[in-house]
This record gives sequence, structure tokens and C-alpha cells, in this order.
Amino acid sequence: MDKPYSRTSEKNEYIDSYYSRTLDDKCDFDQLRNDVKTSVCVIGGGMAGVATAHSLVEKGEKPVLIEANRIGWGASGRNGGFVSSGFSKGPWEVANMVGESHARELYQLTNAALDSINRRMGNERESLIDDPHGHFEVSWFNEPGKVEKQVESMNDLMGVHYEFWPKDKFREYYHSNHYHDAYLKPQALQLHSLNYVRHSAREAEKAGAQIFEKTPAIEIKKTQNGWKIITDKGSVTADQIVMCCSAYIGGLNFRLSNATLPVATYVMLTEPLGDRLKEAIKGKWGVSDNRVSSNYYRTVKDNSLFWGGRVSMFNPQGKKLERIMMKDLLVVYPQLKGIKANVAWGGFMGYPAHKMPQIGELEPGFWYAQGFGGSGMTATVAGGEVVADAIINNDERYKLFEPFGLQYAGKPFGPIVAQTAYWLFQLQDAYKEWRLNR
Ligand SMILES: Cc1cc2nc3c(=O)[nH]c(=O)nc-3n(C[C@H](O)[C@H](O)[C@H](O)COP(=O)(O)OP(=O)(O)OC[C@H]3O[C@@H](n4cnc5c(N)ncnc54)[C@H](O)[C@@H]3O)c2cc1C
Repeated sequence: MDKPYSRTSEKNEYIDSYYSRTLDDKCDFDQLRNDVKTSVCVIGGGMAGVATAHSLVEKGEKPVLIEANRIGWGASGRNGGFVSSGFSKGPWEVANMVGESHARELYQLTNAALDSINRRMGNERESLIDDPHGHFEVSWFNEPGKVEKQVESMNDLMGVHYEFWPKDKFREYYHSNHYHDAYLKPQALQLHSLNYVRHSAREAEKAGAQIFEKTPAIEIKKTQNGWKIITDKGSVTADQIVMCCSAYIGGLNFRLSNATLPVATYVMLTEPLGDRLKEAIKGKWGVSDNRVSSNYYRTVKDNSLFWGGRVSMFNPQGKKLERIMMKDLLVVYPQLKGIKANVAWGGFMGYPAHKMPQIGELEPGFWYAQGFGGSGMTATVAGGEVVADAIINNDERYKLFEPFGLQYAGKPFGPIVAQTAYWLFQLQDAYKEWRLNR
């Protein structure tokens, strides 16, 4: 896998994954080869950057977006495809920190972002969604009554409509002895995230944005009236900039770079399983469990199983990664022993220590939207919207994220810190399982 601190992969192309193998839009966006001027330059073409550009054009602006590799080349085009409201930090943790009404406003931003994702798909919905069914969050631990209570309080605080499913009902669809009570997020989606992010970039381009691929920002210079971004074959002069480079930011801006840890996480796609799939899974919904070191998975159209999880600093790849992921799968579904993997891959998320997105203005005209690791794609779209609204309408909703600042995240020991924390979480999960499930 590519390195988190380097901005480019070999040839800047997509890594081998389910997404790149089933990519619809194979045409490149142009590479920037001259000097252009714009009101707003967005740097980084993942979900956060593309959503920012898309929100800007929807509000009448004509931004320039530059992406070092390909649109969606980073985490956004490699992820699990689970799209739902919320953040990495739990709703009650957020409420305890900032108060209930502030937390409610934050969560409503992600509910609105889910609506925006649905709306922006337009007529392409069919090809952008792998499955329209929602997701389950299932408890790995036997804690009677707890999930039902959680659902009530989340529905109240977050303004969502989650449905409680008792263990027996859930196990009719998902035949694993590890599972207990669950809840369904019916509005959630299973997205083909690479097709989606490219589609969103195309729509923004049609509406007036200029999008450039294979155009890394090498240096950002402050000018009298704004900023000059030097790329390897040209430059962008802009009144304002928005940095959305996440874990792949490298040394472009040390303050932003030091505020997130690049955390690697992994996904595997199995071979098509035919009727064997029904030995384990009969539901169409995606599933993730509630261990800190959880797994998440869904089926895709040809009855393959798309399996995600893990954090590792050892950067396993190829067959070794497939073996590791398959071992995790067989813990949950031992009845699938003997199935094979088709491909496995990883990507880096930008993870802030406080588990909330980092959104704000570093200095006048220098915006950032990053740190979506764990919070995920819906939060990136919420981030893009509040930054675009701040730039165009002086809207202050971005200040809802002020309590979650750019605190130092632990670099250069980042990968060691992340790996050690993951091992501790695994131990904690194992102890809890032993204590509660005996
Ligand atoms: C394996 C995996 C599974 C995941 N599963 C899920 C999931 O199921 N659901 C969910 O919601 N989230 C999931 N996530 C998290 C989610 O993908 C991220 O939170 C989200 O995509 C982050 O988007 P981003 O735009 O901030 O970052 P990225 O998508 O990483 O984009 C950053 C972009 O900036 C570019 N860049 C960097 N430096 C420069 C530069 N100097 N000049 C120009 N461009 C630059 C990079 O090339 C990159 O394309 C997963 C992540 C991974 C890795």
C-alpha cells in the first residue's frame, strides 16, 4: 500500500480493489498545465474536497479543485461504502462535552448531508448504490436491554429513526453465535463510493467547477490578496483555499498534518459465494458490530462478501492481507470455511485524537476540512457544506466544530500509537466478551 506521508502512488493510479475493478467513469479529469485564477481553490479530491466543491457550485461559486492523484484515490475510493449519519465520537459523549442542543445541531448536519448524498446522485442512483438497504449495528456482547435503550436515546438526540431488533430476530438473517441485540439504520446506504465521488466531481464540473487530477499542490504561498498554490506543472491563484488532504497531506501544512494520525484500515472482497452465502447470511443489510476493533460487512451484487475491519501499522498486503481478513471472517462465520478471497486492500484515514472532524479557518481565507477517520463519508459532506456556506454566506455553522480543534495527534509515533491502541482495544473487547457472554 502507498505511504500515508507521501502524496502520490506509483503513476498516481487507483489501487487494485473492488471499486477500481467496477469503476464506471474511466475518463481522466485534466491535469493542470498552466496558471489559473479563481475565487476558491479546494486542495484534495476525496469526498471532503469534492463535497466542498459541489456545495460551492450549488451556491453559485466556480471553484478550482486540484487532486494529487485521481478523484477518490485516497480513503474515499477504498472504503466500506457504509453511509449513515453521525460521527466517530458517540452522540452522548459529544453531548456531554458541548451540551445537548449543540450535539443535536451537529448530528442534524449529518442527517442533512445524507439527504444531499441522495439528492446529488440524481438519475445515476442505480449505478452509484451497491444496495439501497440500510445497516445494522449488532452487539457482540450479551447486555440485555442495553441496545433497546440506546436506540431510544439516539432517536431522541440525533433525530433519526433507528429500529431495535432483538437477538433472535437478527439471527434469523445473520447466522452467527456471536451476535446479540441489534438496531437497524433504515436510511443508511451501501454506496459504490468511488463511482459516487467521481460522479459528484463530474456534476460539480458540469455546473462550473474546474477539476484537475494528477495535480499535487507542492507549496502554498501567501500573497497580498490571497494565496498562490504551486503545482508541479502550473499554479492556482485564489482568494481563499480549502485544504482537504486528510491522511495524505504530507508536509504541505504542518499544523494540519500534526493534528491527525494516518490510521490504516482494510477491506477484502471474497469470491462469489453462490448458495453458500445463505449458510451464513440471508439479509441484504450491511452489518457492523460494536467491538472497538469491530468488523463491518455487506454483500455485493454477485453474492460476494465485502468484509472490512482492522488497524495495522505493519501494512499487510496481497495474500497476507487476504489471510488476515479471512481469519476474522471465519471467527464470525465458521460455516464459510474454505471460501476464497478475490482481492484485499487498505487505505489511510486521517484520525484526530478527539474522534470528531476538524473544520475551520486557520487564518483569514485559509479553510480546512479534515479528520473524518471513523466519522466517515456523511461527515465529509456536512463539512463541505458548512465550509462552502461560510465562504459564500458568512454562515457560522462551521463554528459548531470549534470545540474539536487541531490538537496534536501523536506524530511521528502515530502508527505505533494507533497499533498499540488497537491491540489494547482488542484485549478490552476480549475481556468484555469473557465477562458478559459466559
Ligand atoms: C478501508 C477503509 C474503510 C472505510 N470504511 C468506511 C465506511 O464504510 N463508511 C464511511 O463513512 N467511512 C469509511 N471510511 C472512512 C472514509 O473513507 C473517510 O473518512 C473519508 O473518505 C475521508 O475523506 P477525505 O476526503 O477527508 O480523505 P481522502 O479520501 O483520503 O482524500 C484526501 C485526498 O487528498 C489528496 N491530496 C493529498 N495531498 C494533496 C496535495 N498536496 N495536493 C492535492 N491533493 C492532495 C489525496 O490524493 C486524496 O485523494 C473508511 C476508510 C478506509 C481507509
